[in-house]
Amino acid sequence: MNLILKPGREKSLLRRHPWIFSGAVQRVEHDPAAGATVDIFSSGGDFLARAAFSPQSQIRARAWTFANEPVDAEFFRGKIRAALAKRLTLNVQRSTNAIRLVYAESDGLPGLIVDRYGDVLVLQSLTTGSEFWKQTIADILLEETGLSAIYERSDADVRELEGLPSVTGILRGTITNLQLPTLAPGASAGVTIYENDLKFSVNFSEGHKTGFYLDQRANRLRVRELAQGRDVLDCFCYTGGFTVNALAGGATSVLSVDSSAEALKLVGENVARNGLSAQSHAWREGDVFQLLRKFRDEGRSFDMIVLDPPKFAPTAAQAEKAARGYKDINLLAFKLLRAGGLLVTFSCSGGVDASLFQRIVAGAALDAGVDAQIVEHLAQASDHPVALNFPEGMYLKGLVCVKG
Ligand code: SAH
Repeated sequence: MNLILKPGREKSLLRRHPWIFSGAVQRVEHDPAAGATVDIFSSGGDFLARAAFSPQSQIRARAWTFANEPVDAEFFRGKIRAALAKRLTLNVQRSTNAIRLVYAESDGLPGLIVDRYGDVLVLQSLTTGSEFWKQTIADILLEETGLSAIYERSDADVRELEGLPSVTGILRGTITNLQLPTLAPGASAGVTIYENDLKFSVNFSEGHKTGFYLDQRANRLRVRELAQGRDVLDCFCYTGGFTVNALAGGATSVLSVDSSAEALKLVGENVARNGLSAQSHAWREGDVFQLLRKFRDEGRSFDMIVLDPPKFAPTAAQAEKAARGYKDINLLAFKLLRAGGLLVTFSCSGGVDASLFQRIVAGAALDAGVDAQIVEHLAQASDHPVALNFPEGMYLKGLVCVKG
């Protein structure tokens, strides 16, 4: 089955960018099924790539390979082996048993995310292509990792764009090594993972993404190193990754804020699980935008503020609205910081790149009337690599700023 591009639309594929947008397509031959493999040709008839067909998505096809090679089980085995080998080289497993093993386009496997939490793999299939090969991929994952259980979390919103329904549940194995011994349909499932000698409860059946923000691993450690003797405010704390690290790093106090009551329940558990002082820890359920204002009006202040909000702008189209949100919270945070205080601020919006984010934070400091310097640039952890031909894979950026 073939997909032929309009004249001149082969440039991005020649640079090995894997996406073929619907507007670049001249015609599709033989009516391929969703997820089926199609050969991509230029208008002049040159073979360009072999790709997964997505009839409903604006991204009409995603390249599996730019070579004239079969796309079959052995192809996927090769890609998965390469992804696993890369993680071994990175030595991530030295400090944690919670690792992103496959990161979609960055590992040459568009639409496929595989995270390992202890002995359980959590798989997220986001596109028709990964869906088409899902069972084959599941078998290969078990063979190549030696593990026996896969839980599926294919419930991300982006599946709608592909015309795919939400799917969650056990994909392979029995998942016996959980805290909850049996996993009834719809019941939550969890596992305790460790990360740099700290332990965390991860609920991979209901938590955000696949259960834990693995991408913040290195940044959590950095916060731990910087927290000594500080009064810390952890905004958008989720299950307390930064909170636990700040307490472990000797923070005088940590206040954790999130709008999710379920997430906050796990924060307390995670603090206790690590033998950290409950007296130094407080939490508030609420909206960060409102609470920061309230704290400002009450004249409260902190020595370190972590801002790790959810994605405000998935694409560049929403960047302007997102910029207002980022500016608002960063401005308030600068005001709440004491002199010498640290702002650890993140954006995970694909639509806001690192230089725009830095400009937003600079604008926030200016409007807050504070002097501040960037002392560190932060990014996603190394098991979330960015393929040079796919810059979209770079989404998490952070700044550590010191208030003068
Ligand atoms: N820092 C966390 C990840 C944060 S994810 C970690 O390292 O694990 C973003 C969190 O923001 C989610 O837990 C979500 O419940 C919360 N959230 C989203 N909007 C919010 C708002 N307006 N106010 C407070 N929390 C919010």
